[in-house]
Amino acid sequence: STTPLKVAVTGAAGQIGYSLLFRLASGALTGGRPIELRLLEITPALKALEGVVMELDDCAFPGLAGVQIGDDAETVFDGVNLALLVGARPRGPGMERSDLLEANGAIFTAQGKALNKVAADDVRIGVTGNPANTNALIAMSNAPDIPAERFSALTRLDHNRAISQLAAKTGAPVTDISRMTIWGNHSATQYPDLFHAQVAGKNAAEAVGDQDWLENTFIPTVAKRGAAIIEARGSSSAASAASATIDAARDWLYGSAEDDWVSMAVVSRGEYGVPEGIISSFPVTTKDGDWSIVEGLEIDDFSRSKIDATTAELVEEKEAVTGLGLI
Ligand code: NDP
Repeated sequence: STTPLKVAVTGAAGQIGYSLLFRLASGALTGGRPIELRLLEITPALKALEGVVMELDDCAFPGLAGVQIGDDAETVFDGVNLALLVGARPRGPGMERSDLLEANGAIFTAQGKALNKVAADDVRIGVTGNPANTNALIAMSNAPDIPAERFSALTRLDHNRAISQLAAKTGAPVTDISRMTIWGNHSATQYPDLFHAQVAGKNAAEAVGDQDWLENTFIPTVAKRGAAIIEARGSSSAASAASATIDAARDWLYGSAEDDWVSMAVVSRGEYGVPEGIISSFPVTTKDGDWSIVEGLEIDDFSRSKIDATTAELVEEKEAVTGLGLI
């Protein structure tokens, strides 16, 4: 298609935005299809965002059909086909968890309502800003006219991290790793699952053959990778988060690979005993802008307890935002 795909990015002047926008504009998402960027920021960040737009101009990207910026969600989201919700309120010093949920609740209720009102009929909404699963739940709950399936939260970075760790452990190239799954919440309780993953077509847990590594090295390394990067780099992982945001959106719109699946946090209808109505990460295949959860995987006791723990955290977050009247 030569009609530009209209893509909204929130928090566009932030760190992730600084990496994300240039990759979007260079065609990493849409290939040859032009893209129109709609960039939302809070008012004090608009000046910085103007600077980013100057740099976008200076790249003379052939596929960038236009850029609009603003601080009003209803204006910026008008007619968008894809909304990447990256901007969120980070936890500040002395901030309680409920303060964090409340601050983000205000952002994601407003954005859900605005999308409901003005987004294109085919809109897809991907949430990167943390706490991503619950932010997505809040936006979804405030957009009653948009099908619930159009919302997802990002666990693709965790998924990619898990692939990278498994490849390093087994000496296989990342292209040999398939069927990786992140279950649950994009948080320290997430469960990266090697029992269904494959290395060159063979079961990954068997290929590794080291339950101690799996439990005590692999899982915590994947779950705590963000903190390790902050420690090493002095600031949070932004380029890899941007890259995963694009991977997730690209596969959602254009389809996952044959014989493989991806991890996406999507609304549960009770699959794998995950409580209905929370936004939890599952193994999913995607095609033509729709996802479907891979069903029928056998879940052993170890995986069961991990999935139960991470989904219990999501239920708690849901109860907290329900208590705050956000959903
Ligand atoms: P980043 O661009 O680094 O991060 C944005 C969000 O992505 C944060 O919630 C962050 O979570 C989350 N995130 C998800 N995965 C990762 C990851 N692997 N590494 C790091 N972050 C990850 O934040 P900045 O503070 O640089 O930028 C945020 C921007 O959003 C600011 O410019 C702010 O003005 C804007 N904003 C815009 C809003 C709007 O458009 N209405 C509303 C609120 C903010 P975590 O905090 O846990 O690291």
